[in-house]
Amino acid sequence: MSSRQATALVDLDAIGSNFELVRSRAPNSNVMAIIKADAYGHGAIRVAKALSSANAFGVARVSEAVKLREAGIGQPICLLEGVNDREELNLASVFELQVVIHDRYQLDLLERVGARRKVWLKVDTGMGRLGFAPEEVPEVLQTLGKQTLLGVMTHLSEASDPVSQKTGLQLTRIREVIGKSGHPDVRTLNIANSAGILGHPASLAEWVRPGLMLYGATPFDDLKPIHDLHPAMTFSAPVIAVHPVKAGESVGYGGIFTASSNTRVAVIAAGYADGYPREIKQGAPVLIHGEKRRLVGRVSMDMICVELEPGDVVQPSDRAVLWGEGLAIEDIATCCGTIPYTLMTGVSSRVYRHYRASS
Ligand SMILES: *Cc1c(COP(=O)(O)O)cnc(C)c1O
Repeated sequence: MSSRQATALVDLDAIGSNFELVRSRAPNSNVMAIIKADAYGHGAIRVAKALSSANAFGVARVSEAVKLREAGIGQPICLLEGVNDREELNLASVFELQVVIHDRYQLDLLERVGARRKVWLKVDTGMGRLGFAPEEVPEVLQTLGKQTLLGVMTHLSEASDPVSQKTGLQLTRIREVIGKSGHPDVRTLNIANSAGILGHPASLAEWVRPGLMLYGATPFDDLKPIHDLHPAMTFSAPVIAVHPVKAGESVGYGGIFTASSNTRVAVIAAGYADGYPREIKQGAPVLIHGEKRRLVGRVSMDMICVELEPGDVVQPSDRAVLWGEGLAIEDIATCCGTIPYTLMTGVSSRVYRHYRASS
């Protein structure tokens, strides 16, 4: 590991044990592990290889699936948004990808080209985004033509909110769809995301689709870390300078922090271009030698500044943890009014990924 670089250390064993938690919460379900957006910033190929017992993988883009196939990933891979045009359909055929059908134009496309794919029918039970209305389903099933129906998928819109009644409503709607269809493969349901798996046992079905929980963060709105999950990513960066700041002097762009007494700051080589959020509040915690220290001044493109305490012995090449081991990503998300999803997926490509695994 270069000590001079911002780094995301990914613990593949943690991802493996989070996967086992999915298995224990959903013992009768097949698991479609969601590894879109480069496995939420963790590296899709490495994560896919570590999850060799996943029954399938889910990605958002055709390009993501192609990279996995080219890396030798042989399990079923599902395109969660399906295909948009002939070129994507061609790639889906060449690389044997499952496709979600959420709109009629996709079925027309398959028919026109004479393509035959394994398809999931997406039903909109309340997300209001992709999918057929429940009442359209019987008719859509009749137009499936040569396609092999894997089952029916729907997405929960409020499972992260423990008091919302919406999940129950969505489950009622999807069951009505099955009840009315008469089609045998419609009984294979694929509903639960991480929040469904952890918070709504009634949403467990033949398939589950965990994403965030595999990476060890809570999907719930309270942003309380979940004890049973193991955070997989530690985002860290080196100290590149330590210098005194006199009382009355400011630090960084806009001078939004002014020292009230003589103090010292450490400059850390990670900024918003690495994926550290510029919106984060003053005083947000950064871990140096295992101690929480306060972010001061604006987040720059390539650097942040952290105020040291009088006794701290810190020098260039020491490392600071921005989130991960010893500093929950949920706490950082709270400090900038966001969720772990955006922080993880925002870690940019110039951040060096390296991997830890026991085997
Ligand atoms: C991203 C995604 C998931 C995974 O959601 P998490 O909240 O990360 O578990 C599941 N299903 C679909 C359709 C998705 O787009």
